[in-house]
Amino acid sequence: MNSARMKNTGRFGAQRPAEPAEISVNTIKKLLRVMDRDANVAVPVRPQGAATAATDCNQSAAGTVVRMTELDRILHIDPENLTVTAQAGIRLYALAEALAEQRLQLIGNHDMMGRTLGGAIAAPSLGAGIGNESGSLASHVISVKMVSGAGQPMTVDNKQPKLLGAMRASYGLLGVIVEATLKVQPIATFSATHRRLRIDEFSSIVDTLTNNEVGIRFCMMPYRDRVYLDLRRYAADAGNAYNTPWRIKDWGESTVMPHVCKSLNILLPIQSVRYRLIDSVTEATQGIINSRFVRSGSNASAQSRTASRARRVLYSTWCFPATDFSFVLKAYQKFCRETYERTHYRCDLPAIGYRVCKDSSAALSPAFDEPMIALQTTSMQRKGWEDFAIDLADFAENWAGVPIFSQTRSLRADYAKQVFAERLEFFRRIRRQLDPEDRLLTPFMAQYFN
Ligand SMILES: Cc1cc2nc3c(=O)[nH]c(=O)nc-3n(C[C@H](O)[C@H](O)[C@H](O)COP(=O)(O)OP(=O)(O)OC[C@H]3O[C@@H](n4cnc5c(N)ncnc54)[C@H](O)[C@@H]3O)c2cc1C
Repeated sequence: MNSARMKNTGRFGAQRPAEPAEISVNTIKKLLRVMDRDANVAVPVRPQGAATAATDCNQSAAGTVVRMTELDRILHIDPENLTVTAQAGIRLYALAEALAEQRLQLIGNHDMMGRTLGGAIAAPSLGAGIGNESGSLASHVISVKMVSGAGQPMTVDNKQPKLLGAMRASYGLLGVIVEATLKVQPIATFSATHRRLRIDEFSSIVDTLTNNEVGIRFCMMPYRDRVYLDLRRYAADAGNAYNTPWRIKDWGESTVMPHVCKSLNILLPIQSVRYRLIDSVTEATQGIINSRFVRSGSNASAQSRTASRARRVLYSTWCFPATDFSFVLKAYQKFCRETYERTHYRCDLPAIGYRVCKDSSAALSPAFDEPMIALQTTSMQRKGWEDFAIDLADFAENWAGVPIFSQTRSLRADYAKQVFAERLEFFRRIRRQLDPEDRLLTPFMAQYFN
């Protein structure tokens, strides 16, 4: 290789050494410096919140990751107009706790409250909404301040509905969100009822349930033929929505179960014995904690707050049209069983599902056209997981599954383009305007968004 020729291009020789590949931002000034086009920062740049996404959407191996978690102040709670303004790095549980002190809550029931506000706006945040209340946190955002890919500070609000719709679920491709204002509501308690069903029993009622005003969350154990159903309805008198039972539930689901699986994976080499035990512990956890303790709640109390522990859980989420879900359920069970027979791989944690209301507020919303059921397949079993995720993607494509770029593993670019079609084209046009030099576009994101 002729090194003199390389230097003559000016590309290699004149470059000063780049700054470290991870930068934690604690002031807006610092963010503006990082995003400055002349800054000595390795590109591409990727904003990162709590890093709970399942894909490389929050990573930049050759460029720079901008960590947002130190930009975490609540700027204003307005109880009269029912809004809150906060910086993008605040964890959702901290936001919910501050709101609860003023008898207010976030709209929609959100799991995984350890994520950041910016991450929950920039990546679709799905939860079990009651009635027609959107479970997507971003749909309640009315204004966003950000620094664009071109390094420009800008504010986007309701007066630019198309641009705001592109900002929601923009995966950090248009700019880095600095702060957001969102609608909130007075705390309303709901009653939670639980049922234990076989998969065909759930399949026979899921249509009726999804057409009702009820919020649906479920844990599915395909190898045990079991579904634990959690139905939520707003109630005039739902009793006391104490935090403690929800904290115990959160502890059981996000700490005890992953730890049990991890330990048993090490201690019990014989698969059949290990899985039998894991399934029994899961059933006991679901049965005792959910059915006995958790009877009522509010969006302020029914939240899982952990992020660091949860990051170790492997998961892949696909959304399926609610109208087809009675068939998808049974097909998913068959898929899991057949895959286990063929490959000896199975997930050791239950799959989590919830009904997601129709939501056209974001250009890349996974429930843009109709209500969906999100199915999050979770596991602690690393060996064989990537192959399983590929098989799962094939299965999901056959059942018209809609992916989420931050949560769906092994997503084929052609399939994503087919699903989002014109909406993706529209998003790409905006992306080219706000980030003309592709400073926010990593190779991973480029396969879908270039
Ligand atoms: C155990 C577990 C359970 C989960 N349950 C749910 C669930 O019930 N519902 C659900 O919707 N999700 C769930 N998730 C997925 C995940 O928590 C969400 O996708 C979440 O919104 C990501 O937020 P984060 O702060 O971790 O963002 P990250 O993972 O750090 O980033 C996600 C995306 O947002 C972008 N981003 C982050 N911050 C900013 C910013 N300030 N400006 C611009 N772009 C930004 C990143 O570049 C990236 O593209 C779960 C994850 C785990 C591990």
